[in-house]
Amino acid sequence: MNNKIWLSSPHMGGSEQQFVKEAFDSNWVAPLGPNVNGLEQDLENYLGNQSHVGALSSGTAAIHLGLILLGVQAGDEVICQSMTFSASANPILYLGATPVFIDSENETWNLCPIALEEATLDRIAKGKKPKAIIAVHLYGVPYQIDAVREVADKYGIPILEDSAEALGSSYKGQKCGTFGAIGVLSFNGNKIITTSGGGAIVTETKALKDRAVFYATQSRDDAPHYQHSEIGYNYRMSNICAGIGRGQMEVLDEHVTLRRKMNTFYVDLFAAIDSVSVFTVPNDDYFANYWLSAIVVAPNSSDTTNRETLRLAFEAANIECRPLWKPMHLQPVFEKYPYYGSNVAETLFENGLCLPSGSNLTDEERERIAIVVQNFFISA
Ligand SMILES: *Cc1c(COP(=O)(O)O)cnc(C)c1O
Repeated sequence: MNNKIWLSSPHMGGSEQQFVKEAFDSNWVAPLGPNVNGLEQDLENYLGNQSHVGALSSGTAAIHLGLILLGVQAGDEVICQSMTFSASANPILYLGATPVFIDSENETWNLCPIALEEATLDRIAKGKKPKAIIAVHLYGVPYQIDAVREVADKYGIPILEDSAEALGSSYKGQKCGTFGAIGVLSFNGNKIITTSGGGAIVTETKALKDRAVFYATQSRDDAPHYQHSEIGYNYRMSNICAGIGRGQMEVLDEHVTLRRKMNTFYVDLFAAIDSVSVFTVPNDDYFANYWLSAIVVAPNSSDTTNRETLRLAFEAANIECRPLWKPMHLQPVFEKYPYYGSNVAETLFENGLCLPSGSNLTDEERERIAIVVQNFFISA
């Protein structure tokens, strides 16, 4: 059997172990230290826009603390893109707040501005203005930044920008992660760069970053003993993990280039196959890191080609592919919460497939992928 081709696997640059070694040599084996500070600095330089970055234990932790910073409390409502990974929505429930899910639009597969406004007006009419809007750049493709921001500004609701999949993406030249009142990054093992597990919160002011770090380190008041006036969390990033992150920052742009090349590979591969469209940006305002390349397979009633039969053909060749994120409003754990929109996200989920997208895939692996596709559509 051939080796497994993964959807997205860790890809080390080379100097990660040196940074980790320095942490051991200086005994900074703790959730603070020079690598944590260094990674934050690297990210601030990379994102630009005078952003401030706090390194945390996960992207999920960053969303949780972001919602706290935006004042979300039990009983509040928070708007959230339905088509996303569950980590976008879970922290709403951690806080005892209620998620209100919104459909996608067809261009970027992200938050639909029309359904967003409809939902906002309806929630206000029902007596509760949503406290925040969680917008996601799925697979590294920026959401409709201007249109979403227009609705958010019109009703005075802050955006929590879930940029977990979009480090290296940008819109009109500005880096993703810097558009929301709060931005979120993830360095989980499958993301474009990894710290094995980790994340970061991006804020517009140093005061807000300090506040996030305060919550992330058990909300210790300024006193010689341990004193607490607020509930705290243990969400800071380890200095060991941050060392991996510093090494990964050196190869981030290279990873973006390689992931984008994988997307081009798929555009070429499926060019002659009418029933498949590769997910790409709508116009030049958008620059995607293409963290994952995704396709939509039009189901054909006259033969057996569809998303699922294609997925199984890849699986039989030991190639990992995965359906798109199952929308949150269709998830058993979330289906009782309000939902606005039609069936855009649902249809994408039914027909969409994520393909191997790693920056470390080889020519030989691309060849194996191409052969599966050719055999599948020729024999069908
Ligand atoms: C990965 C991911 C997260 C969560 O990040 P973790 O670091 O795994 O906690 C949140 N939102 C989206 C859209 C993600 O893809």
